[in-house]
Amino acid sequence: MEYKPSIFQVDELQACNEKELIELSQLYSLSNGLLILPPPDVKNSTLLLDASTTQPAYALATPAPTTIYPTPFPKRNFSQAYDLQPIFNLLIDKIALDSEFLLEILKPVSKVDDFLAHLIEIFEATSQSVSNQPIRLGIHRSDYILHYDAANEMGDLDGQNLKEVINFFSSNKFKLLQVEINTIASSFGSLSSLTTGLHNFLSARTGNFWGHFPSENPQSSPIPENNSLLNIAKGLAQAHSLYGSAQAAVLFIVQEGERNVFDQRHIELALFQRYGIIVIRKTLLQAKQDVHLGLDDKLYIDTQEISVVYFRSGYSPDDYPSAVEWEARLILEKSRAVKCPNIAYHLAGSKKIQQVLAQPGVLERFISDPQHLDLIRQCFAGLYPLDYSPEGDAAFQKALQSPSRFVMKPSREGGGNNIYGEDIVSFLQSLPENDPSRSAYILMDRILPPHLINNNVGLRFGQPSLRGNFVSELGIYGVFLTKNDDVSLNLAGGHLLRTKLDSSNEGGVAVGHSVIDSPYLV
Ligand code: ADP
Ligand code: MG
Ligand code: MG
Repeated sequence: MEYKPSIFQVDELQACNEKELIELSQLYSLSNGLLILPPPDVKNSTLLLDASTTQPAYALATPAPTTIYPTPFPKRNFSQAYDLQPIFNLLIDKIALDSEFLLEILKPVSKVDDFLAHLIEIFEATSQSVSNQPIRLGIHRSDYILHYDAANEMGDLDGQNLKEVINFFSSNKFKLLQVEINTIASSFGSLSSLTTGLHNFLSARTGNFWGHFPSENPQSSPIPENNSLLNIAKGLAQAHSLYGSAQAAVLFIVQEGERNVFDQRHIELALFQRYGIIVIRKTLLQAKQDVHLGLDDKLYIDTQEISVVYFRSGYSPDDYPSAVEWEARLILEKSRAVKCPNIAYHLAGSKKIQQVLAQPGVLERFISDPQHLDLIRQCFAGLYPLDYSPEGDAAFQKALQSPSRFVMKPSREGGGNNIYGEDIVSFLQSLPENDPSRSAYILMDRILPPHLINNNVGLRFGQPSLRGNFVSELGIYGVFLTKNDDVSLNLAGGHLLRTKLDSSNEGGVAVGHSVIDSPYLV
């Protein structure tokens, strides 16, 4: 099978005036906090809105990267992703409670992966499991790409009109395949809710996208509602309330120089405005200096007790430049505060676990409902070990033979870590024979999304920046809260659609490869 995308041309988007949509996008983003910080070198983003200003614009903030149009997405696959989320939430919880399983799978990998070794060390130092921490809060995001096997029957749909493309999109020909599940620092919940607002506004304000947007009746809007911001805040607030100390504060662990800061600040505002809960922000380095454990391992900053620690940092080796940050993570983990995620949830989301779950019989260890098993299996792409087992050796050979069919992944988060195509071959061939580091990687079937050619535009800094063939990735936020076995929240809490040019392998919004989009359900 060659990597051969299916291309859909959608001409009818030309209905709206692009300049007007861009200006209105800027207006909406700036007025509603749909914002990011620019990179330090972008001091000046000239906005159409402020074309008349004579002041140099030192941008304190700039519109978040978004599309001007939503993107068609099959209704069936969208609701499938929502249906899957509560099952994944439970699955992560069960895996996290099974320390024997986590250690059996991850210990061998930790021998060749320093970062994982540090996480395991903390896991083992804190009694190996979350069972001593009765309150568990998960804020996850499970990501999917639609798969369409072009080799089947495509090719002749290029240049079809909108109606035919929409018919095709709704024709059950796409498979929803999971890319990964994020259990730590799942971002863009706030900005994605705001982007739903942006596209509803643009559609209503410019007279309905594509000429058939039934905006009179929001119930039937093809742009689905999206409450990720409020559901994430709700998860944190209910965990705070289960913890049971009303005067306590929530601690956000953040990265130094974070650009996606408004995504976090919206949650902070919602926590205060809706629940009266105060948020304190610290980097891991600051946390090491400022937090301490009190009686019964309660977590404090000065005399301020902390109820919940919400990690928006700590998922990448870059977040631990020295031993100090690891010490901070250990203290936080040891404390009685609710960690989102706790170390076991973090480990349960690693890519090695994802690969092992796809092996026959493993899901059954955690899930008994046959319908749930079936739903989950349907969304698994082919996943293979790259260790020195017979299966790993077979995957190694397959990767060398047809690298375009695969993605090679280390157990890392945050984008930019995967290896694609011919790079897989050169990487594998560069490894000395029997080099143990091969085991730190997994191999995954490459998912082939439909490519959309339309006149959609990706805005960066409020300016038209991306044009061409677009592909999209859907994320569903999961919010899960339990005390011992008493589950009080198990939600599919909203969604994120990220759209990128098909020329880019990875879709980081903050690094400018992809933009936030909304699904237009067909
Ligand atoms: P991370 O945790 O770094 O986000 P991902 O597994 O999500 O790692 O991979 C990053 C990006 O690489 C994804 O957003 C997607 O664009 C692309 N990608 C990952 N796996 C696949 C796959 N199996 N097929 C196609 N693209 C993939
Ligand atoms: Mg990830
Ligand atoms: Mg990802």
